[in-house]
Amino acid sequence: MTPDVAVVGGGLIGLLTACELAERGVRVLVLEKDDVGFEQSARSVAAVNLPGGSSAAGPDSILRISADEWAGFEERWGCGIDLNQEGWHILVADEEDERWLKIDRALWEETAGYPDSELLDARAARERFPQLDGSFRALEVRHGGHVDAVRVMQGLRVAADRLGVEVRRDTLVTGFERHGGLVTAVRAGESSISCGAVVIAAGVWSSQLCDLLDFHIPMQRVRAPAAETVPLPPGAIPGFLRGSTFGARQNRNGTVRVTGGYRYSAMLHDLSFHDLRDLRVWAPALWKNRKDVSFRVDTGLLAAELACGWARLRGGNHRAVVPRDYHPSARPRDRRKQLQDLARFVPVLRGARILRAFAGVIDLTPDLLPVIGRIPGAENAYVSSGFSGHGYIYGPGACRALADLIVDGNPRADLTPFRPTRLEGKLSMREQIF
Ligand SMILES: Cc1cc2nc3c(=O)[nH]c(=O)nc-3n(C[C@H](O)[C@H](O)[C@H](O)COP(=O)(O)OP(=O)(O)OC[C@H]3O[C@@H](n4cnc5c(N)ncnc54)[C@H](O)[C@@H]3O)c2cc1C
Repeated sequence: MTPDVAVVGGGLIGLLTACELAERGVRVLVLEKDDVGFEQSARSVAAVNLPGGSSAAGPDSILRISADEWAGFEERWGCGIDLNQEGWHILVADEEDERWLKIDRALWEETAGYPDSELLDARAARERFPQLDGSFRALEVRHGGHVDAVRVMQGLRVAADRLGVEVRRDTLVTGFERHGGLVTAVRAGESSISCGAVVIAAGVWSSQLCDLLDFHIPMQRVRAPAAETVPLPPGAIPGFLRGSTFGARQNRNGTVRVTGGYRYSAMLHDLSFHDLRDLRVWAPALWKNRKDVSFRVDTGLLAAELACGWARLRGGNHRAVVPRDYHPSARPRDRRKQLQDLARFVPVLRGARILRAFAGVIDLTPDLLPVIGRIPGAENAYVSSGFSGHGYIYGPGACRALADLIVDGNPRADLTPFRPTRLEGKLSMREQIF
């Protein structure tokens, strides 16, 4: 049976959008090249915003809707996600950190409502959180939480099943068939899958797919190093702990997941031919941050792009170049630094054995905002991508809003800041990365 909507990508955004659509009576097929959550979504630290705080943004902000959704997620979708509500704890070590905190507060106030918070001096912080040590100026204790990304993806898989969503794994989407402004089918290798509409939720590969529909998203693929330790005693990390070089949280089984911090994320930008097109957009900000940013030429992708370009010259189809089973590595020295810095403040981490080291590739847009809405020039194609390292914070509100837009054209949430057409003008990258 032809699905009403084919969703490309089985990450948090694709799967949750599929569930939202199915709840509204839509027949949905999810096409995933690997397995659900394989790329960013199951590798995430998954810190989330929770209800609370005052805001100029009002109840229609998707950030606020997302906060409410996380608070009621387990009940709504019938799955355990280990919601931890102990808060976000932000270590302020120097003047630069203080400056960052001011910008960050203003941003939250504008968008989601600045969460209730308390600024503790170092002595008070150590008294309240005896697991903390080392030299720092202050600790901001902020209302917020985190969820277990692996459990979220497993739970959504089951919820999708229950709602009748078909999830086809090992299915790489390479292109689309169009009739005028309508997408009539999705191509997966040699097969063609008819559909009533399509949603592109393919994370870092969404830009390649949108290009096939004549809509370009300038997107950088940036590797975020991450690691998980062996289980440590409960309470080793209070809630979600952030410093300038690390962000860490403890899972229910005791393991600690660590990734980049709020000022230095040790980010490694992957480059292939596709990325050169937008060099003009990225170059000024990257040059300014050159001490903290590094590049890596993705030779595998480069070779695949060349082969695809050659095939096209010889009369083949225009197809997206998207790798399967993508296991990006991170530089060991970046991970070492994150762990060493974290251990300066949390002594129990010193010498803790690393169980798993990995990287996740984040989809950065120039203004660091996601792209959510109908693709310009297409009547029945939508995109929800470019979450710029904040997919868990924005996700539930974004998925709900997109489902409303597809079903009745009138989402309650305000999607204006995320409209795809904003990318058609002159762009430059925001200088502050996180
Ligand atoms: C280390 C790390 C830490 C993070 N921490 C946080 C955090 O604390 N808070 C927060 O809010 N966010 C965080 N994020 C970001 C968050 O995880 C992402 O924004 C979110 O998971 C994006 O979900 P997605 O569904 O858009 O993308 P993805 O999870 O990448 O899903 C896209 C899916 O599409 C599939 N796909 C791609 N192309 C095709 C194709 N052609 N055919 C078929 N399938 C295809 C991929 O295989 C993939 O499964 C973090 C990310 C990382 C990597």
